[in-house]
Amino acid sequence: MFIISAPSGSGKTTLCKQITANVPGLWHSISYTTRKPRPGEVDGQDYYFLDEPAFRQMIDRNEFVEWAHVYGNLYGTPRKMLTEKMEQGIDVLLEIDVQGARSVKKKFEDGVYIFILPPSFDTLRTRLQNRAGDSPDEIQRRLQKAKEEVWSYREYYYIVRNDDLKQSLKELESIFLAERIKTKRLNMTWLEEKFILD
Ligand code: ADP
Ligand code: 5GP
Repeated sequence: MFIISAPSGSGKTTLCKQITANVPGLWHSISYTTRKPRPGEVDGQDYYFLDEPAFRQMIDRNEFVEWAHVYGNLYGTPRKMLTEKMEQGIDVLLEIDVQGARSVKKKFEDGVYIFILPPSFDTLRTRLQNRAGDSPDEIQRRLQKAKEEVWSYREYYYIVRNDDLKQSLKELESIFLAERIKTKRLNMTWLEEKFILD
């Protein structure tokens, strides 16, 4: 299990999408949220979007591995698909906030915990503004929260400073490769194509 967290706007969704495309045999879990979709976001692809009563019903039915209040909305990792994938021996990727990562860590201590940092606070602000998906108030709230969240990096096993996107992707790929070698879950074809035959 790979768990990626970061302050909002650091680039974790961008990185997770690309890493899922680049690394074979990796399944990216899709969370449920009560947040409204941003322009361009697709239900069932970026998130499963639902209202709060429906989310609360899922909590009552114990359908989440973890869930949390994040920036005024509810977010949760659904249990069923995750369990199925893990039983099949497929690597899973969770893109969740620091509270979610903490509760997952209690159950899956040997997961690979990766924290993404923005190169600077100013860059973080610019990225949130350029993404143009959240209101100015919402951006302000996320920036305020980022000041606390960055200190959570100490709870993670790897840190990636997302300045140059290509470089960050290479670093992430190396982490996935190293972890797969360590746990003997390496797909040799991927290693050979990516790092030897290129
Ligand atoms: P998060 O999921 O952490 O909230 P996003 O992946 O949505 O962040 O990225 C926030 C914005 O920053 C997006 O507009 C994205 O295109 C941009 N971005 C992400 N990584 C980089 C990077 N390395 N350099 C420049 N812009 C980036
Ligand atoms: P956004 O609204 O920008 O998509 O996400 C806001 C925050 O919620 C991000 O830190 C993101 O990682 C986190 N998040 C997304 N899905 C989940 C989830 O299932 N559980 C938890 N705890 N956090 C999540």
